[in-house]
Amino acid sequence: MIVVGAGPAGSAAATYLANAGVDTVVLEKSAFPRPKACGDGLTPRAVRELVYLGLPFPEEEGWLRNRGLRVFGGGHQLELPWPSLASFPDFGLTLPREEFDHRLARHAVQAGATLLENTTVTAPLLDDRSGRVVGVKATTPEGERQFRARLVVAADGVSARLATAIGRSKKTNRPVGVAVRSRLKLSQPPSRPGQMDWMESHLELWDGPSEDGKLMPGYGWVFPEAGGLVNVGVGSVTSTAIAAKINYRQLLTTWLDTLGPLWGFTSEDLEDPPRSAALPMAFSRQPLYARGLILVGDAGGMVSPFDGEGIAYAMESGRVAAGAITQALARPAGESREAALRTYPELMKESLGGYFSLGRVFVKLIEHPAVMRVCTRYGLPRPTLMRLVMKLLSDLYEPRGGDWMDRTIATLARMAPAA
Ligand SMILES: Cc1cc2nc3c(=O)[nH]c(=O)nc-3n(C[C@H](O)[C@H](O)[C@H](O)COP(=O)(O)OP(=O)(O)OC[C@H]3O[C@@H](n4cnc5c(N)ncnc54)[C@H](O)[C@@H]3O)c2cc1C
Repeated sequence: MIVVGAGPAGSAAATYLANAGVDTVVLEKSAFPRPKACGDGLTPRAVRELVYLGLPFPEEEGWLRNRGLRVFGGGHQLELPWPSLASFPDFGLTLPREEFDHRLARHAVQAGATLLENTTVTAPLLDDRSGRVVGVKATTPEGERQFRARLVVAADGVSARLATAIGRSKKTNRPVGVAVRSRLKLSQPPSRPGQMDWMESHLELWDGPSEDGKLMPGYGWVFPEAGGLVNVGVGSVTSTAIAAKINYRQLLTTWLDTLGPLWGFTSEDLEDPPRSAALPMAFSRQPLYARGLILVGDAGGMVSPFDGEGIAYAMESGRVAAGAITQALARPAGESREAALRTYPELMKESLGGYFSLGRVFVKLIEHPAVMRVCTRYGLPRPTLMRLVMKLLSDLYEPRGGDWMDRTIATLARMAPAA
């Protein structure tokens, strides 16, 4: 098996495949540790995937736990603890992606996968007669090489070079986000109680104290990390593949000036420079399996339109894909093997298709500033409504049973056509 890319999707897939005894080679263009544009925030959904993977997250190794979301908007502030559910843990985590991705890749190697760094995949190898993907071409430190395998997993992130090369282009009717983040070191402990215990979500961005500041486009976050660090970022989302025309770096710089006094940092305290990237959403590349090529994570456009979360879905897709591949490889080449591989897109759509479709509607609504204003002003002061909204936005509800909120969301997700 060849896995292209050692982000959360690729490393998760490689770990499960190697654990199942499948000979697995991961080709990664960079060398770890490498920088990554990310908020570094893991919701309970992502924590659940770490538990499935068997990757421990002790505090002494730099993981910081959080209790939930602190949401700011419309002059209100609300604390929403992660819900107590049978299906998910009730805490989130943060760890800088440089470290997180490195640990996941090492975990895959410990499971038995071979990791080749500084290896950039440049094109798929196609079978002349069937057009099936039978390997990849890559630039390695030793020169150009070809790698052949029965199946190829594309985990190459938002660039999706492999998928694009065989014509699996981006669906233009799916939402897309753009975000930029920076990491800062606090020069003093934050003054508000519990400030390091919550992932902060800001529905409005002000260019100064809100009483005399101007409202800027987009949303923002502050995710506390171990060692007195905070990941601060801004972003926006549009309902089609046309990104909003916003100078994100300027937006972040201005917002950092507003936040600095509340958190105890100045622009001098920058630990890691701003980095930005696009967030491909709601299965924006399909099919997730065809002709020997399997798409996982951002390569298949699996970021949630509701909250921009992509790590959990990347690891989940790696897990589900590896299951389908392992079953497929236990069968002779032919229709039975193909049928096993097709279970991967089917299972992903079954579990996330309806939810992502609801997310597309959500993005269409919040694209209108007036709708967003009414929601923040009248929604935030209503705690029960906000608990329902938090379960919906963070995809944390019981798929079966649960309370009335879980049942409402599960029913809506089941009724919506799969994305
Ligand atoms: C600013 C920002 C903030 C975000 N914050 C969060 C957050 O807080 N929480 C969250 O859950 N999600 C967040 N996301 C989304 C999240 O980062 C992605 O969804 C996630 O990284 C997807 O994982 P992946 O493994 O699919 O892809 P990636 O993590 O992008 O990994 C792809 C890997 O493939 C390698 N690669 C690429 N091309 C090639 C090639 N040709 N050959 C070999 N290797 C290749 C890359 O080097 C990389 O290691 C954020 C995104 C952005 C842009």
